[in-house]
Amino acid sequence: MQAFVLSVDVLVLTTMVTLVATTQPRWFDYSRLALLLGLCVVFEEISTRVSRLRVRLAGYGHVDMTSVWTFAGAVVLPPAEAALLCVAVLGYSWARRDRDIGMRAYRQVFGAAVVIGSCFAARAALMLWNAHGGVLSPALIMLASVATAMLAYAVVNTGVLFAAIYLAVRPQRLRELSDNWQDLSLEAATLCLGGLTAAALLSEPLLTILVVPPMFVLQRSVLTKQLEIAATTDGKTGLLNAATWQHLAQRELARAEREHQSAAVLIIDMDNFKRVNDTYGHIAGDAVLRAVAGCLAEEMRRYDAIGRFGGEEFVAVLSDVDQAAAVAISERIRERIGALEVPRHDGEPPITELSGSIGIACYPAHGSTVEDLLHAADSAMYAAKHCGRNRVEVSAR
Ligand code: GH3
Ligand code: MG
Ligand code: MG
Repeated sequence: MQAFVLSVDVLVLTTMVTLVATTQPRWFDYSRLALLLGLCVVFEEISTRVSRLRVRLAGYGHVDMTSVWTFAGAVVLPPAEAALLCVAVLGYSWARRDRDIGMRAYRQVFGAAVVIGSCFAARAALMLWNAHGGVLSPALIMLASVATAMLAYAVVNTGVLFAAIYLAVRPQRLRELSDNWQDLSLEAATLCLGGLTAAALLSEPLLTILVVPPMFVLQRSVLTKQLEIAATTDGKTGLLNAATWQHLAQRELARAEREHQSAAVLIIDMDNFKRVNDTYGHIAGDAVLRAVAGCLAEEMRRYDAIGRFGGEEFVAVLSDVDQAAAVAISERIRERIGALEVPRHDGEPPITELSGSIGIACYPAHGSTVEDLLHAADSAMYAAKHCGRNRVEVSAR
């Protein structure tokens, strides 16, 4: 991973230095650069509170809105000036908001190198269209070239970042890298705004000011979504938190009652989890909890509500499922937990031989409210513990 990061840094830095050294400065390029930087400063200043909150909620992985300026720079400025703009924009916005999370210097340099590399890719895509516009009208060439530049920017930006994360984390499935469509759509929206900013700069530079209000509103709407996620999910596992699960379970039972359907509540408690912590440490214990959460999500359907009830205890409500199906699903989950191999960061052998005890209560046979069903499933789970753990038990009521 270090070799990859260093190669990207060196490649981008040498290209940038060569370009800066060989480019003849033109005053109107610098006036455009100054205008974009000025707008960036204005936006950062008026949105400092919102963006700091976003950084605190999402940490390293948050998508910021600086691509509006860097992509516009890639379209209207020569590559050397576009690279200088990236350094200034990222330097300013990091100093203004990212200091809170104490991002390491090497991450900042790599982040900047990736953005500058994305600008070079966008520029190359533009040049391709300028050279081979063919029979298309100038308006169509403009549209196609900006769209291709956006694509090139997004592919290089996302591709290199994902490659670095892949090398650092080595996930078992590619999907684990990111299934966050909200981030990807925000990135796409900022690139569109960057394209419009570039068009305004080329025709009437003062119009670029109009991009700031929509950016502000977009930033706030993303924060609202982040707050909603933070309020409803368990930070450690990404599953629903207990209050949200209870709310969704109540809704699911009301639906089952209306439509005369069955449902099942499952409680899954990890066996001897204290021993896992004592043997491997709490950080590794947390990784086990995340892996178990991943198993649960994979073994159930997207619309089944799955939550972390507390500690090493998970709950799920399965809609339109009878007792036999609930037992079959629980057995599958039990087997998946038993087959888990949770990697450890220090290169030691993975954590294995995990198990969980599962209690099942069915609607309407074992209760008609969430509380009743939880009690019934909890008793069944304790019965499974008493029978030797690593078992599935159905409520005896
Ligand atoms: P049993 O088979 O009877 O369920 O045994 P157990 O050790 O799993 O049960 P117990 O309730 O005695 O201990 C639960 C342990 O789970 C204690 C606590 O250290 C651990 N635990 C609870 N929450 C977390 C967490 O968020 N992270 C980690 N790593 N461990 C946790
Ligand atoms: Mg336990
Ligand atoms: Mg427990």
